[in-house]
Amino acid sequence: MTGKRDVKCKLEIDEPKAKECPEGKFIDPASLMEKGKFVFKVPPEAPVFEPTAEEFKDPLKYIAKIRSVAQETGICKIRPPSNWHPPFCVDVDNFKFTPRIQKLNELDASTRVKLNFLEKIAKYWHLQGIRIKIPVLEQRAVDLYSLYKIVEFEGGFNEVCSERKWSKVASRMGYICEKSSGTVLKGHYERWLNPFSLFHATIKDEIYYKPVKRETLVNIKEEGSSTSNSPNKRARLSPDDEKDMDDYIKDPFYLMENKELRKLQFFGAGPKMAGFSSKCRIGHLKTKETKKSKRNRKPTVVDDLEKYYCQKCGSGKYEETILICDGCDLSFHMQCLIIPLTTVPKGEWRCHKCVINEVIKPSDAFGFEQAQREYTLQQFGEMADQFKSKYFNMPVHLVPTDKVEQEYWKIVSSIDSTVIAEYGADLHTMDHGSGFPTSLALCGNEDNTFYKSYIEDHWNLNNIPILKDSVLSFINADISGMKVPWMYVGMCFSTFCWHNEDHWSYSINYLHWGEPKTWYGVPGSAAEAFEDVMKETTPELFHSQPDLLHQLVTILNPNILMKANIPIYRTDQRAGEFVVTFPRSYHTGFNQGYNFAEAVNFAPADWISMGRECVNHYSSLKRICVFSHDELICNMVSSCDDLAPKAAELVYDDLNEMVKFERVQRKALLDWGVTEADFVEFEHQVDDLRQCMVCNTTLYVSAVSCLCDPKRLACLRHFKQLCNCPAQMHVFKYRYTLDEFPPLLRKVKAKAEIAYDD
Ligand SMILES: [Zn+2]
Ligand SMILES: [Zn+2]
Ligand SMILES: [Zn+2]
Ligand SMILES: [Zn+2]
Repeated sequence: MTGKRDVKCKLEIDEPKAKECPEGKFIDPASLMEKGKFVFKVPPEAPVFEPTAEEFKDPLKYIAKIRSVAQETGICKIRPPSNWHPPFCVDVDNFKFTPRIQKLNELDASTRVKLNFLEKIAKYWHLQGIRIKIPVLEQRAVDLYSLYKIVEFEGGFNEVCSERKWSKVASRMGYICEKSSGTVLKGHYERWLNPFSLFHATIKDEIYYKPVKRETLVNIKEEGSSTSNSPNKRARLSPDDEKDMDDYIKDPFYLMENKELRKLQFFGAGPKMAGFSSKCRIGHLKTKETKKSKRNRKPTVVDDLEKYYCQKCGSGKYEETILICDGCDLSFHMQCLIIPLTTVPKGEWRCHKCVINEVIKPSDAFGFEQAQREYTLQQFGEMADQFKSKYFNMPVHLVPTDKVEQEYWKIVSSIDSTVIAEYGADLHTMDHGSGFPTSLALCGNEDNTFYKSYIEDHWNLNNIPILKDSVLSFINADISGMKVPWMYVGMCFSTFCWHNEDHWSYSINYLHWGEPKTWYGVPGSAAEAFEDVMKETTPELFHSQPDLLHQLVTILNPNILMKANIPIYRTDQRAGEFVVTFPRSYHTGFNQGYNFAEAVNFAPADWISMGRECVNHYSSLKRICVFSHDELICNMVSSCDDLAPKAAELVYDDLNEMVKFERVQRKALLDWGVTEADFVEFEHQVDDLRQCMVCNTTLYVSAVSCLCDPKRLACLRHFKQLCNCPAQMHVFKYRYTLDEFPPLLRKVKAKAEIAYDD
C-alpha cells in the first residue's frame, strides 16, 4: 500500500532515554473538534448483504460471492433470511464468567500518551515537593501534553512569547476565545511546563554529568534566570499559594488509580455511574511520608566531616540555604540549583539528578486488569442496564446508537474521564458451551426437529471452520483457539481493540441477542498503512511496546486514521446479524449495551496465499505462529482427493511457491557446506520444540540444527545465525526430499485441471 498520507506536522519527540525513538506525527486537538467541542465524524457505512434463501445455503460460497465488494471495506454485514432464527442454547442458569475491567480512556493510544506525559509532569513536581493541579479552561481540563508539544513546535516558550503566538497555540488546542485563552495558556505553560522543559533541556545537555568549572556554572545560572522565570515568580509555585487558584479544581470528584496520576487533581463533572461508585470514587489517598526529611538538618558538632558542601559551587557557606536531597543525600545551595529556589520546599525534595532518574523510568506496561467479580448472565445484565440507563438518564433502548457512538469517542479521548466498562470477552465454547445448538447441548430438546435442524446448519459457527471447503479443517494440531467459537458478553462501551486475525484468517461474528455492536474496519490492503499511522501517531507507546497491536489493548480514534487517508468503514450489527472480517482487515468496536455474541475464525481456499504472506510477515516480526502453514498445505496435498477443483488450484499455486523457496534455500545450505541430513516427522513434535531460534517460525518442511546443541533449530532463512560453528557441524532436517515434490505437484495439478474440463 503506497497511499499518500498528509503529514500534518512533524514534532520532535524528546524522550530522554529513547534517543532512537522515531519522530511522531502530532495531531492537533483542534482537528478533532468543532466550535470548541469534541465531535466524532462518523465514517462511511460498510456494505450490508441480504442473501436469498437459496444463496444462504452455503456460507463459504456466499462469502466468496461478495468478496470483491466486501474486502474493499474490510468488514461487512450479512442479514440472514427472515425465517432463520437459531435458538439460544447457553445454559443461562449455570453460565458464570469474570469480566475484564476496561478503563476506556486508557485504552486509547493517543490518550494514553497524554496520561503518560501527565504522570511524568506530576512526578517531576511531586519530587520537588509540589502537587500539580490540572488547570481548566473553557470547561475542559487543559491538555498539557498538546500544549507542551505545540509550544515546542512553535519554537519554544521564549519564541512563542516574542512572536506573540499564544492565540495560535490556543487555536491549535481547539479553544474558541483564542486571545484570552492564549493568555491563560501562557500562564499555565510558564507555571507548570516551562520549568519541566528547561529540566528536559538539561537532560539533553547532560550538564549534571559533566565536570564543570565554576565560571561555567555561573553562566548556566544566568541563562536560567535570563528567562522570564525570575526566582520571585517561581516562588509562586509553593503549594500553599492558593491565590489565582480559581481556575483550578479544589475539590476533585475523583482521583485516578494510576500511581502518579492519583496525585493529580482533575476537574470533571464525572460520569453518572452510580453502579460503579465504589470503583470511581477512589478517595483521597495521601502519599505516605515515612522518611523523615533531612532538609536543613543542622550539624550538632561543627566538624569538617559533618559539614555540608554544595555539590555545585563547592562552598559550605550559607548553610541555612543548603538543601539535602532525599534521594542521594548530596547537598546543594537553593540558589545554585539549575532552577533556583527561594523558599524551602515542603515535603520531600530531590536534586535534579535524582529527579531525572525517577522521571525517565519507563511507565508500567499496559494490560487489562481482571475484575474480581464473577457474574451470572442475569447479574451482568442488571448491572449493564442500570449503568446505561443512569449514564444517559433514559431507558436503555431509547438511547440512539449515534449518541452512544459520539459519547464513546468523547470518553476515550478525554484525559479526565473515569468511565469503566466490564467485558465478558473471550469465553471459550469448550468451557461454557456454545450459544448455537450442538449435539452436545440440546437444551433438553432431543426430539425437537427445529433445534436439530440448526445443529447441522452451515451458518452455525461451530460448523463453519470444519466445512469441507474450510482449510483450517486440515490442521491436525489442537488449534481450538482458532477452530472453536468464542463468546462475548457486552455492556455499553465495552470495547474490542484494534486487531486483525491470527494468520490473517477471516472471522465471522454472530450477535445472538441484545443491543447492537458497533464496528469499524480497515480493508486488508491498507493494513500496513494503518500500522504506520498507529506507530507515527503514538511512537512513545510503540517504542516501549512494539507488539502493542498484537496484544489487543489499543484503540485509536478512527478520525485520526481517516485524516491520514486510511479508509475506514463502520456498521451497527444488530441481533440476528453476522459481521464478516476479511483477511488482514484491522477492526475495532464497542457494544451499545447488554448483548451476547459468538465468533470464530475460518479460512476458505482463497485465503491460502494470504496465509503464506502472513507467516513470512510473522517471521520478519519474530512473531510466534499458531500453526505451520507449510504443514497445512502438505496435509491438503495428501488428501487432495477431497478438495474442490478451485481449491486444488490454489493449493497448487501455494505448494509451487513453497517448492521454489525450498529449492533455492536448500542449494544455499549445500553451497555453505552442510552435508549431513536427517529425515524428521516434524508433525509429531509439539510446536514449542520446533521453532526457529531466530524468527520463531514453526518448522515443518525443513530445518537446520548443529551438533553443538541438537535441540536448537533454525529455518532455512536463518541457519547461519544458529551458532558460530562451521557448516560441517550443521545437520539438515527434512520432512520431504526435493524429489518427492514433483509427483505431489502433478497430483494436485491433475485435481485442479478438472475445473477446466467441466
Ligand atoms: Zn552552592
Ligand atoms: Zn539526589
Ligand atoms: Zn527463521
Ligand atoms: Zn553449533
